[in-house]
Amino acid sequence: MRVKIQLACTECKRRNYSTMKNKKNTTGRLEVKKYCPWDKTHTVHRETK
Ligand SMILES: [Zn+2]
Repeated sequence: MRVKIQLACTECKRRNYSTMKNKKNTTGRLEVKKYCPWDKTHTVHRETK
């Protein structure tokens, strides 16, 4: 089952990305390192509701 989620930067708390995840494969909160245009560097982005 694929659900739409949003990824928020853990540094500035801004929601920079929206993506899909598969609930079967991904347990718990999704965490990805992505480029944050506000911090101008790569930061950890965490799934939000
Ligand atoms: Zn940021």
